Amino acid sequence: MINRLLLTLKVQTIRQKVFAYLAALGVMGGLSFAWVWGSSLHDRLGSAAGLSAMEQAVLILGVALWVGGAAWGMHRLVLRPMGMLKDFASSALLQEGVAGALAGRSDEFGDVARAVVGALKETSSSNEQLRTLAMTDSLTGLGNRNHFKDRLSRALEAGDENSNRVALVVLDLDNFKGINDMLGHEMGDELLRLVGHELQDNSRKTDTVARLSADEFALIVDPVERVETVVALAQRILEALSLPRVLGRTEVHPGVSIGITVFPHDGRDAETLMKNADLALYRAKAEGRGNIQLFRHELQLRAIERNAIERDLRIALQQEQFELYYQPKVDMQTGMVRGAEALLRWNHPERGLVPPDMFIPIAEQNGLIVDISRWVIRQACEQNRKWQDEGLPKISVAVNVSALDLRRRDLSDLIANTLIQSRLSPQFLEIEVTESMVMHDVEAVIGTLRRLRSLGVGIGIDDFGTGYSSLAYLKRFPVKCLKIDRSFIRDMTSDLDGQAIPRLVIDLARSLGVKVVAEGVETRLHLDLLRGMGCDEAQGYYFGRPMPADEFAVFLDRAQEGLIPDAKPVPLLENDGPALLEKPSVA
Ligand code: C2E
Ligand code: MG
Ligand code: MG
Repeated sequence: MINRLLLTLKVQTIRQKVFAYLAALGVMGGLSFAWVWGSSLHDRLGSAAGLSAMEQAVLILGVALWVGGAAWGMHRLVLRPMGMLKDFASSALLQEGVAGALAGRSDEFGDVARAVVGALKETSSSNEQLRTLAMTDSLTGLGNRNHFKDRLSRALEAGDENSNRVALVVLDLDNFKGINDMLGHEMGDELLRLVGHELQDNSRKTDTVARLSADEFALIVDPVERVETVVALAQRILEALSLPRVLGRTEVHPGVSIGITVFPHDGRDAETLMKNADLALYRAKAEGRGNIQLFRHELQLRAIERNAIERDLRIALQQEQFELYYQPKVDMQTGMVRGAEALLRWNHPERGLVPPDMFIPIAEQNGLIVDISRWVIRQACEQNRKWQDEGLPKISVAVNVSALDLRRRDLSDLIANTLIQSRLSPQFLEIEVTESMVMHDVEAVIGTLRRLRSLGVGIGIDDFGTGYSSLAYLKRFPVKCLKIDRSFIRDMTSDLDGQAIPRLVIDLARSLGVKVVAEGVETRLHLDLLRGMGCDEAQGYYFGRPMPADEFAVFLDRAQEGLIPDAKPVPLLENDGPALLEKPSVA
């Protein structure tokens, strides 16, 4: 900037002044010579040696005055204005207002002031462009993480001053990876843009919407009058993003989980609030996705607890602290036990019996689930074979596998080898996968499930009805049964429309030609309603809670008469199928 100004000074002022000065000097010099010494000058100079002392002094004084005058003139005409202009220019840099006010003058101050204002405008507009670029997410046009942090700290400062509340809402798409893998990055980008629009449509002008990373978005709601309003906003966004969307020619169900935290109650600085919002988001995901969670201080405690569980989990397998419990699945028409679900329990040395919801999500996150699942599958197969060897009725045992297991290409090999080693026929093993798991990375999952099915292992879709299955995909999965989620069974008797979903799932299963199992059957009324709808099997506290293996053996033995008094007993599953035992190598 200074260089530009000096250039302007040089070009527009110095040059003109120096030329004007030199011209004036020439004229003045000529005139003074003529005036002081007149026409006799030539004669006097001709005999300079003969000048009197007085004349020499006058001559020297004249030259000295002339040089001094020239220097003073130079200073007055060029250097002083230059210095002043330079000082002015520097101050104008700091104060555009001054430059603007002086820009109307017609002298050199005006010239420089105009140059200053022009240069300032040019620089500030390119600075502004750079700033905008550095703060914008190029894909969605929303603010990026930098913009978000900047806005958040400003909102917090203002909130502090005006005693306003500010809410921080973070969102993460539930099925983004699956959709990206399935439809490609272009469609994935399209979905992110769509989410951006949806968030902008749902927020107010004073709010800030930003994309923080791949499929993570955030909103600053400022100011917040009532926390309920923020929750209602989150609910609107959740509902909007749960609707099916068409990308290309495919219908997808993006789904979103949301975490909310509020300033100043949950934290006073940006870093703490971001951490708390992430904790709430994490909790929302752990609650089964498609969920909204407000940050609560218990979440912080839970995070500490979580670290302790993660540490202890690492030694639980080595120290054999895990145990499988078994819960019966009963034929609705005959009352006979058809199978059991193996449910994992952790006998923690200090905490006692830890339920799976407390540690499976952690094991899934740190990858320990792969080793745990290997243990579960082996244990369930060996136990089932043991019961058969003891002469108990032959039943099928179902194990739950995680999304991480399902993505492993060697899952079918692992299961095939385990069946061989435990001498169990594949028809007595079932794998339960949840709906949301199979909707991720659909093609790879279909491959794994088909390999398992070709072994003769049954596949059940767990918690059915909670995961927005695409019916088009469902038809392609080699599924043996659908398990209606227990929340729908509970709602059958508490809600007027509660029977609609179980009825729908049963009809759907029928048309797909697969079996349907109801989870969470707790009462005789549940049982009778489901039987009336044509449900095949039931699992729930009405028949029996999950129990340790030896207890289950006694239960199985006693249940041979059937567990439903008015039902007719029919024969159990047929004998072992030979398929796998004779053909160990698996495609
Ligand atoms: P899930 O596979 O849907 O298992 C059914 C859950 O419903 C079990 O909870 C069972 O105890 C509970 N339940 C059964 N009948 C009733 C009833 O009548 N009323 C009520 N209120 N609940 C009933 P649990 O054992 O706590 O397991 C929770 C979840 O943990 C399981 O849900 C499953 O997703 C997961 N899980 C359990 N064991 C394993 C495992 O070995 N591996 C993996 N990956 N996940 C497991
Ligand atoms: Mg299950
Ligand atoms: Mg379930």
